[in-house]
This record gives sequence, C-alpha cells and structure tokens, in this order.
Amino acid sequence: MIRPTVARIDLDALKSNYRRIVAYLAAEAGDRTPGVIAVVKANAYGHGAGQVALALEEAGADLVACADIEEGHALREAGVGAEILVFGALSVSDLDGLFDCRLTPTISTPGAARAVQAAAKRYNQRLRYHLKIDTGMNRLGFRFDNVRRSLPELLASPNLELAAIYTHFATADDPASPLFNEQRLRFERALVDVEDVDRGARRNGGEDVVPGGSANSAVERFVLAPGGSSRPERSPYIHAANSAAMLRDSRVWYDRVRPGLLLYGIVPPPLASTLSLTPIMTLTSRIVAVKGVRTGEGVGYGVKFSAEIPTTIAIVPAGYADGLDLRLAGRGSVLIRGRRAPIVGSVCMDMLIADVTGLDVSPGDEVVIIGSQGDDRIDVREMAAQIGTIPYEILCRIGSRIERLYR
Ligand SMILES: *Cc1c(COP(=O)(O)O)cnc(C)c1O
Repeated sequence: MIRPTVARIDLDALKSNYRRIVAYLAAEAGDRTPGVIAVVKANAYGHGAGQVALALEEAGADLVACADIEEGHALREAGVGAEILVFGALSVSDLDGLFDCRLTPTISTPGAARAVQAAAKRYNQRLRYHLKIDTGMNRLGFRFDNVRRSLPELLASPNLELAAIYTHFATADDPASPLFNEQRLRFERALVDVEDVDRGARRNGGEDVVPGGSANSAVERFVLAPGGSSRPERSPYIHAANSAAMLRDSRVWYDRVRPGLLLYGIVPPPLASTLSLTPIMTLTSRIVAVKGVRTGEGVGYGVKFSAEIPTTIAIVPAGYADGLDLRLAGRGSVLIRGRRAPIVGSVCMDMLIADVTGLDVSPGDEVVIIGSQGDDRIDVREMAAQIGTIPYEILCRIGSRIERLYR
C-alpha cells in the first residue's frame, strides 16, 4: 500500500553531488585538498538517514555527522560502517550509545567532558573526540577567549583523545556580515591556545613532547599544513565550514569541510552556486478530485479564497501533516500538466487545493509539489522564499507519513 503523495530520492544524484563537491575541493585546493564530513543529521535533512548515508559511503564518504547519539544508533542499525561524528551536546544523553555504536562525540562543554571521561573510564577505553570551540555563535562550544582556563582538565583526561578541533559559523550565508571573518580569526587564535594547553597537559602526563609551543608553530601545525605529511602524528585535525562557508571562502576549508545542504543538491540562499548540483528530492502527488466553484463562492477553511470568475479547483492529498506549510496558501503553486496551479484557500491537515482553471485536469493527474514537470520546476529555495523560511526547514519538515522511494 502506498499513498499518492510520495518523495522520490535520487541516490545517484546524491552520489554525484558528493563527487562533485570532492572534485571542486580538489580543483580549488590542489595538494591540500580537504576531506569531507557528510552531514546527515535530522534524518538526512528529511531524505532518510540510513539510505543516504549508505549511498554516501558508496561514493567514498568515510565520515558522516549526525545530531545526537540516537541518530548515530539509527545509522549503525542501517548498516553504516563509516566513522560517525555526533554534533550535539551530550550532557543529558545516555552515553552508553557512544561505545555500543562506536560513535565519535563532540565535546563542547566542561560537563560533557567530565561525563564522557567517566564513561570512557568505565568502558576502559580511550575515546577519540572532537573539541568544539565557540567563536561567536554563542551556542555550543568552549568560548574562544577562555580556552586556557577551560581546557586543561579536558585535555588531561586520561581516557579521551583529541582527534579534531572545530567551530561553526553563524553568518556564513550572509556576505555582508563581518562576523564570518572575525570567527575565522578567533578560531585560528584559539587553536594556538589549545595547542599550548595540550602541550602542557601532555607534559604533565609524562609524555614526550616536542619542545616549542610558540604561536607560530601552532598555527603552522594546525592551520598552515592541514593534512600535510609533516604534521606530528598526534596532531588533531581542523574543520569549520558548512555549505555556505565552503562556497564562500577556501581559507576555512582546513582539513575537512562539513557540507549538509549541498549534498542534497541545494545551495544555501542567497549564495549563487559555483558548482553544479542536482536536487535529489522530488515530492509528487495525484489529484483526487476536481470541481467547479461559482463566482463569489469561497474555498477551504476560513474561505480565504473566493472565486472572482467561474473557477476549477483540484484537491491534492497533501497537507500540513505532510509538512506543507499553511503559508503556502495564496503564495505557492504546484505543477499540474506542466503549468503552475496556485495553491488557494487553505492548506489543510491532509489536503491542499489548487486553482486549475483553464487546465484540462482529471483525478489521477500527477501533481508536482517539489521538482520539475514539463519545462517548469519548483525548487525548495523558491518555496522557502515564498513563505519566508529557509530550504532546510522545508526539507526537514516533510512528514513521516510520506513514503520515501529510493532510486
Ligand atoms: C548542520 C551542520 C552543518 C551543515 O550545514 P549546511 O548548512 O547544511 O551545510 C555543518 N556543521 C554543523 C556543526 C552543523 O550543525
């Protein structure tokens, strides 16, 4: 049994998006090409985390990232073998999943540092983790200007091993914001401090440490020689760039980049694409009823649309329970018979209403909500702009009731 409203996910297009991103990085960066962390949080932005992550693995991804331990568990259940990084805070999580599912945690608070150290000790393991630095977003992470005070305990944790250091940009998609550049500079300065604290922690731990510790050597180690063979073996690697940052500034590529939206074929607005990607999701339905409305009659809850001329409407079985926003009524359109049919009246829980006046339509006709039909296409960026949101929200909200069909 399958409902008429379905999301088709093109896994070949996903793989080719991944490969195009890799090729773009290689072409622009040359011998210091960064690796990729493929972001599949929130059920792979609504596309289905298991299938998406497995396809990305086939395309060469060796590191995927999710929001929390539960998502990491779902990825392992789906058979994902690649390393899995968890972005979220772990302070109120059941940490056993980190060990049961072989997940790499992000440590972004002192509380999480202590909890994860204690758990790793219980498991008698040395757990690799990524350290998150807050450089101005003021969400998760150790403050960039306080790491000398906040990090010694974490870096001295006997059961934890620093594998990578990262930050996250608050305004990468806003070319006018000076914060982006400021965050980059703060991050690079914080790396010097982390390097110093780490050196101190290891010296106190009795390890052999190469003498030095000057600002220059830290910047060189972290920033100037990413991925280079000259890096000390224990040196953590660095990452910072989401999709927008990746497109915007190769100086923040460091050792790996963290695209999410780009994998799904969408460039974060308002940026223009410098690489060619294919949206991988198409959302379609079928007309279930067609009827005429007389001049002056209203349509839908609140009768917000009233017919100024004799009007034909089509009923489409997709509504806000499927993630279609109420604000689409009066703003958005769907494609029917290759033409734009405005969404009118109200988006209901299970249905929407399209004005098909002048189109020769019948029940059963295909309705494209996201995707192309004939020569026209409605993409997620357009839909997001119509209702004042971002493509991310539209994709993530596509309901669990909608079947995802993979190709
Ligand atoms: C979601 C997320 C990303 C990916 O962001 P996009 O804009 O989709 O590329 C990268 N890093 C972190 C920490 C994230 O939470």
